[in-house]
Amino acid sequence: MEAVEEGHRRLSVAFATLGCRLNQADSEELARSFLERGYSVIQEATRADVVVVNSCTVTREADRQSRQLVRHIVHHNPHTLMVLTGCYPSIDPVEAAAVEGVDLVITNQEKAQLVDRVSRILQERGQALLPVLDDLPEPPPGWFGRTRVQLKVEEGCNNRCSFCIVPMARGRQRSRSIAECVEKVQRFVDEGYQEVVLTGTHLGGYGRDLTVRGSDGRYHPPGLADLLEAILIRTTLPRLRLSSVEPQDFPRQRLDLWSDHRLCRHFHLPVQSGSNAILRRMRRGYTRERYVALTEMIRSQVPGAAIMTDAIVGFPGEQEHDFADTCRLIEEVAFARVHVFPYSVREGTEAAAMPDHVAPSIIRQRSTTIAQLGEEAARCFRDAHAGQEAMVLWEEEVQPGVWQGLTDNYLRVRALSPERLHNRISRVRLVAPAGWGFRGQVIAP
Ligand code: SF4
Repeated sequence: MEAVEEGHRRLSVAFATLGCRLNQADSEELARSFLERGYSVIQEATRADVVVVNSCTVTREADRQSRQLVRHIVHHNPHTLMVLTGCYPSIDPVEAAAVEGVDLVITNQEKAQLVDRVSRILQERGQALLPVLDDLPEPPPGWFGRTRVQLKVEEGCNNRCSFCIVPMARGRQRSRSIAECVEKVQRFVDEGYQEVVLTGTHLGGYGRDLTVRGSDGRYHPPGLADLLEAILIRTTLPRLRLSSVEPQDFPRQRLDLWSDHRLCRHFHLPVQSGSNAILRRMRRGYTRERYVALTEMIRSQVPGAAIMTDAIVGFPGEQEHDFADTCRLIEEVAFARVHVFPYSVREGTEAAAMPDHVAPSIIRQRSTTIAQLGEEAARCFRDAHAGQEAMVLWEEEVQPGVWQGLTDNYLRVRALSPERLHNRISRVRLVAPAGWGFRGQVIAP
C-alpha cells in the first residue's frame, strides 16, 4: 500500500477476473475508473484494500469457482472490501450476497456505479480517498505493462442459443457509438498500446441498436464492418484484432478490410457442432455448409488467416453420427485452434430441459477425441509457416535476452535479442516450430 503524503495513503484495488474476454475488458475499464479516482491498482489481491472479483456463470462449475475465489482471497486478506460482480450475481444476486466474505454485490447492469459505491462504503468506514489530481498515477503504458487492451464495443445479446445463460446475465444488446469507440481507440494509442481487441457479448451484432446517417441521407444501423473501417481510417492504431464473432454475423461482404495489414488475420468463429441437427437444437442460425463456405471465403481472400473455433461436445441428443460430423468438420476446415467445451447442464437454459442427455463418460471420450484433432490441426497450421516472415508484437522477456510475442495470426514466437523489444513490432523470420510456437529471428526492428 503506497504512501502518498504524510497522514494519507492511496487506497489500493486488485482484480480477480474469471471467464471471457468481455469480463477482462470490464475489469480493465473498472481499473481505469479507479485510477482516475485516485486509487492505485495492484496485482496482489492478498494485500489490496479493495478486491473486485469479476465472476462468470456460464456453467454451475463457474459459479462454484467464483465462490471459491472469494473465500480464498478473504481468507488471506480478511480486512479487504470484497466486491463480487459480473455474471454470477447478475443471475443469482441473493446467492451471491450470501457468499461468505462478500461486502458488496454489483450486477452487470450496475457496473457503472461500482466505483462510486465502493468509495461511499470506504468513506463510511473512515478510509478517506485522496483526490489529489496532480498526484494521479500516470496512465499506464499498458495495464501492468501490457501491450494489448480490450475494448468492449457492445454488451448484451438478443439471440437465444439454447445452451447459453449469458443473455440473461448481460441483458439485451447495447452498443457504443462508432465515435466513442474511435475516440477510445485513439486514446489507447496515445497511452502506448500497440493492439486493441474489440470484444462484446455478441460482437457480430454490433450496432443493430444504433442508427447512423448514411451517404444517401437515410438512417440505418451501422455494423461491425463500419466500426472496423472507422477505426482503421480515423486512428493510428498499429494493430486491430477481433475477438469471437458468431458465424452468421460475420461481415463476409467486407473481407476487403483485411487488405489493411493492421487488421489481424485472426478469425474466431465458434461453430459449436458439425451436425446440422445439433446446430438446430442449439438455435445457432447457420448450417454446417454455410459455416464451411464462410471459412473458404476467408481463406481465399485473406492468405495466412488463422481460423479458430469453439466446439461443444455431448450436447443433448448428440448421436455418434452427429459427433462424427463434428470430427469431419474439424479435419475439413483445418483450424488454427479448437477450444473444446464438454457440455454441462446449466439450469435456466432451454438445453437443460431437453431430453437425451449424453452420459458423462461419453462426453469425456468425445472431448478427448476433439481435443486431439484440434491439436493436430493447430500443429499443421503452425508448421505451414516455417521459413516465412511475420510481424511480431513483443509482449515479455521470458528469460534474459529471450523475447516472446504474437504474430497477427496468433502464432507465438520467441527470439533472442540483446535489445529491449517490449511493446515493439518487428519483422521476424519464423525459423523452426517448437511445442509452444515458433523460434524466430528478428530481421528488422
Ligand atoms: S450468440 Fe448465443 S452463445 Fe453468444 S452470447 Fe448470444 S446466446 Fe450466448
